[in-house]
Amino acid sequence: MKWIVLDLEWNQSSSGKEPEVARIPFEIIEIGAIQIGENGQMTGEFSELVKPQVYRKMHSYTSKLIHLQMQELEKGHVFPEVWERFQNWIGTGEDYMFCTWGPSDLTELQRNLAFYDLPPIRKGPIPFLDAQKLYTLCYEEDRKARRNLEHAVDALGIEKDIPFHRAFSDAYYTAKVMLRMKKDRPAVYSKISYDVTIPPATEADEVEVVFDNYGKYISRVFESREAALSDRHVLSTKCFLCGQSTRRKVKWFSTNGKHYYSVSECPSHGLLKGKIRIHWTEEGGVFVVKTQRLVTKAEAEEILTKRNKAERKLKEQQKQREKQLGIRRNRGASGKNEEVDG
Ligand SMILES: [Zn+2]
Repeated sequence: MKWIVLDLEWNQSSSGKEPEVARIPFEIIEIGAIQIGENGQMTGEFSELVKPQVYRKMHSYTSKLIHLQMQELEKGHVFPEVWERFQNWIGTGEDYMFCTWGPSDLTELQRNLAFYDLPPIRKGPIPFLDAQKLYTLCYEEDRKARRNLEHAVDALGIEKDIPFHRAFSDAYYTAKVMLRMKKDRPAVYSKISYDVTIPPATEADEVEVVFDNYGKYISRVFESREAALSDRHVLSTKCFLCGQSTRRKVKWFSTNGKHYYSVSECPSHGLLKGKIRIHWTEEGGVFVVKTQRLVTKAEAEEILTKRNKAERKLKEQQKQREKQLGIRRNRGASGKNEEVDG
């Protein structure tokens, strides 16, 4: 499968001068991309400016960062035209995977497509390689730090032969970092990310994938959080590796109504941590992303501690609420008395 290493530049409302259009907070002004073939060679380049239709003034941040002026953009073509050429460049019916530095490019790309009523890239979540995340997994000891592209290029000693912060150059350097990781740690490419700007519409579109040490499930859209959290598949803690039923050690609980955790035990694979993250769609629907991973006993203990803390907090809040209700009731009573008195 070939890779389309993609980078976008965008402009936003320059506050105070132009109002923000909610459907398109970031308007794409440049598309840059590199194709990498099966054999790991760069096989094609794409670079085009986009003529803005929404924000005609350059945000100070945009012009400072990417050194693009409005006059230059006026020479470009409108987004739907550039997008058509980009798709032709990829080739129709081709098997490819997007690769970007960080998760935001695909999100903004899909928002721009929706703004122009253009067909979506896919009907559901888009699998992609997040080069920034992969870089962290390959080279950062804590496996958490998120680095900018230039940092990665410097750290890997990649030659800086063109300036940064233009769509094409950033795609080019992202491609270079990707190819370097392919050499150093080929296994890292199994770590596929999913963009969920368009969540699965039906059960058939749901995503269920297993990586070497964790499993991921992206549910369809439900009417409400309650509906999602009463679905058997959503709540299931069956082992992602072998599908066996597990013994629940810590039932699903939440600390904030958005993240839910559980611990269960597979007879063959041991302790599993479950995590559900609730996502709200713009239309008010709800879908979940559930992950499962193997954990140590100490990590399982940590989740239990977290649960106990959450329970204590909930009890305290309930007590507080009851107390306040009591006070309000008393006040209400005295208020009425005063009225009668007056
Ligand atoms: Zn198992």
